[in-house]
Amino acid sequence: MDRIYLDYAATTPLDAEVLNAMIPVYRENFGNPSSSHFFGQAAEGAVEQARSGIAKLLNAKNFDILFTSGGSESDNLALRGTAMAERRKRGANRILVSAVEHPAILATAKQLRDEFGFEFEILRVDKFGQVILEELEKNLTESVAIVSVIHGNNEIGTVNPIPEIAEICHSKGVLLHTDAVQAAAHLDLDLEQLGADLVSIGAHKFYGPKGVGALIKRKEIKPLPQISGGKQEGGIRAGTHNVPGIVGMTVALRRQTEFRAAEYQNIVQLRDRLIEGVLQSVSGSTLTGHPTKRLANHASFVFEGINGNELLINLDMAGFAVSSGSACKVGNPSPSEVLLALGIDSNLALGSLRVTLGRFSTQEHADRFLEVLPGMVTRLRG
Ligand SMILES: *Cc1c(COP(=O)(O)O)cnc(C)c1O
Repeated sequence: MDRIYLDYAATTPLDAEVLNAMIPVYRENFGNPSSSHFFGQAAEGAVEQARSGIAKLLNAKNFDILFTSGGSESDNLALRGTAMAERRKRGANRILVSAVEHPAILATAKQLRDEFGFEFEILRVDKFGQVILEELEKNLTESVAIVSVIHGNNEIGTVNPIPEIAEICHSKGVLLHTDAVQAAAHLDLDLEQLGADLVSIGAHKFYGPKGVGALIKRKEIKPLPQISGGKQEGGIRAGTHNVPGIVGMTVALRRQTEFRAAEYQNIVQLRDRLIEGVLQSVSGSTLTGHPTKRLANHASFVFEGINGNELLINLDMAGFAVSSGSACKVGNPSPSEVLLALGIDSNLALGSLRVTLGRFSTQEHADRFLEVLPGMVTRLRG
């Protein structure tokens, strides 16, 4: 069977050029970047070249790039590490996170509350999943250690106005973290303009390898290490560097930046035809997330009278790889907290579907999907 991959928000295939850049690192440049001999220096050179490459691509000259094992670790280091550092520095013990954060942020915030004595408040979002700025202003005081708001949402595609949110946070002297793991693939990130103080990215969402990411933070911020040990990454993140992964992530980000400029309009057009096609051909269907301020590749829906997991199993059997929303929710029968936060009824929220496009998506993929979906939904309802 011809299988069609429509789940680029879960992960992307590794770019062949990225793999080509990684192979010689695996083969020859195997040294430990912390070793002082020739082999160590060669590996360190590759890591530092990657670091300055990423800083350049993201216009991040006033930031440090900290290499991590991926988006989840970057989110953990940003939220837990900064919350603890800010509490020690100035006694701030409250955390504000939006209601539509990735579990890597939401679960960390809950842990900080339940195990580490922080207070945590959830910032309400509007029906499209954007943070309500007045809510932020109302809840923001100097006792807040850190605010975390997702940039481009993985489940519903909504893009938050990070520069405006940053301005509000900074007016109270509070740091802002943004999870840009999805956004890094689809938006031109310019960290000077973005305004956030800490930014998480993960390579496998933009055709890079799995298990590598970065936390990009303003130079003056010193998060408490979440992995303690050696002196790597300025003493903030111990552990021998994933040198091939770091090199691969940098090539992937460069390639994706080029690809985005050339292909962005095509993906947006494909996305909009898909959204229109689904809404027209499936009765009782609703788009979730923002109609226009959404990631270029992202289409997400809820269907009345449908079990989302059942739908995606049937689509899988028909050759379409899609998601019910978040890769972390497979097998979980409770409705998504993100969809509930939009005010979607909990029964309806169980009927969610996420279709995310990417570099290898074609009009034919979208057409074939639209040929199959309506009949399948009718059959599952009956
Ligand atoms: C995928 C994802 C993460 C987690 O990243 P990993 O590299 O898989 O740990 C965090 N936040 C968002 C928005 C994501 O899409």
